[in-house]
Amino acid sequence: MDYEAIFGQAVEKLRDEKRYRVFTELARQVGQFPVADNFSGIGPEKITIWCSNDYLGMGQHPVVVEAMASAVRRYGAGAGGTRNISGNHHAIVELEAELADLHGKQAALAFGSGYVANQTSLATIGKLLPGCVILSDADNHNSMIEGIRQSGCERHVFRHNDLAHLEELLKALPIGKPKLIAFESVYSMDGDIAPIHAVCDLADKYNAMTYIDEVHAVGMYGPRGAGVAERDNAMHRITVIQGTLAKGFGVVGGYIAASKDLVDAVRSYAPGFIFTTTMPPAVAAAATASVRYLKNSQVERARHQERAATLRRMLQAAGLPVMMNQSHIVPVMVGDPALCKLASDLLLSDHGVYIQPINYPTVPRGTERLRITPTPVHTDEMMRGLTGSLGAVWEKLGLRRRAA
Ligand SMILES: *Cc1c(COP(=O)(O)O)cnc(C)c1O
Repeated sequence: MDYEAIFGQAVEKLRDEKRYRVFTELARQVGQFPVADNFSGIGPEKITIWCSNDYLGMGQHPVVVEAMASAVRRYGAGAGGTRNISGNHHAIVELEAELADLHGKQAALAFGSGYVANQTSLATIGKLLPGCVILSDADNHNSMIEGIRQSGCERHVFRHNDLAHLEELLKALPIGKPKLIAFESVYSMDGDIAPIHAVCDLADKYNAMTYIDEVHAVGMYGPRGAGVAERDNAMHRITVIQGTLAKGFGVVGGYIAASKDLVDAVRSYAPGFIFTTTMPPAVAAAATASVRYLKNSQVERARHQERAATLRRMLQAAGLPVMMNQSHIVPVMVGDPALCKLASDLLLSDHGVYIQPINYPTVPRGTERLRITPTPVHTDEMMRGLTGSLGAVWEKLGLRRRAA
C-alpha cells in the first residue's frame, strides 16, 4: 500500500477541479488594518484586505488589545487546564456573565471556537432529548451539520429559509415528539437573513425548540450588538443562541446562551466542552472587553452598514454582478472555480487587493464568487480603488457582468 500516493492523489483531484486552496500569507498590523504586509511572494508588499471576518476591526481596537495585553501580564499565557481540572478562570466566568446578559438569557457557556460550540452543543442537546427530531436549514454551516450528525437524531433538512417546507415537515411529525429547529440568522455566503419571528411562530405552533447560529450577526446587529434576534425583538423566543467571539468581536472563541438548566446540561455532558483546555484568560478578557464595548457603542455598527451599502452601490454602478441582500456581506458572482481563483490571483498580484476565492464545497458548484466584507475602516478611496481593480480584472478575464 502506497500511503503517500493516496494523499497525493486526493490533493491532485482538487487541483484538477480547480479548487485546490492556496492561503495568502500576510501580517496584519495594529492601526493599519485593512492594509496588511504581504508575505505570499505574489503582488506588492502592502495589500488591502477585503475578505476579513473581523467585520468591525475589533481585532485591533485599543480597548480590546489593551484588555488582552494587561490580562496576559496579570494572568499569564494559558488557562492551566480544562474547566473541570483547574482551568475555570475568573476571566472566563466573567465573559459568560457578559454573554448571558447580552442575549437576555439566564446563562452562557464559552467554548474554544464557534465551530466547537455548534458541534458539541447540538450533539449533546440532541442526545439528551429522547426521540428528538432535528429540522435543519439546507444552508446551515458545517459545524451545525456535524453536531446534528453526532446527535444521532432523526434529521430533516428544509429548503433554505423556506417556511412552507419547514411547516410541511413539522406537520408530518407527532406533536408530542421533541423537535429542534436549527438555523442561522445571517447566512454568510449569500448574506441573506432568516425570518426569525416566522420560524418561532412555527416552533410555537408545533411545539419545537429553536437553535440559532448568530455567528455573522453578533456585535453587528441589534441596539447592543446581540444579533438579528435582538434587532427583531425575538431573542426571548429563541431557546438557544449560539455565537462566536472571533468575527464581529474580533478575538476567538464561541458560546451558547440559553436557560440555566440547558446550559448546565451542556456543561455537564458535552465532550467538546469537558475534554479540552479552557481558552486563555487573556482571550476571555479581550472578548469581554469587545462585547462590553459594542454593547454601548453604535458608531461601528452604523458605519459598518453604511460602508457595505456604499460599496454595493459603487460596484453596481460599475456593472459588476453584485448579489443583493439585506446584510453587510457583498458577494460578487463569478460562477466558475478556475476563473474565480484566477480573478483572485490577479487582484492580488496586479492590484494589491486581497479577496480569497470562495469555491465548492463552501458554496454550490457554479456559484463560485468573490465574497467582499467591507469594514468601518475601509475608506471611500479604497472602495474606488477596489471598484477600478475589479473592473479591470472583469475586463481582462471577460467575466459575466450581471448577477446569475
Ligand atoms: C465561522 C462560522 C462558525 C464557526 O465559528 P468560529 O468561531 O470561526 O469557529 C459557525 N457558524 C457559522 C455560520 C460560521 O460562519
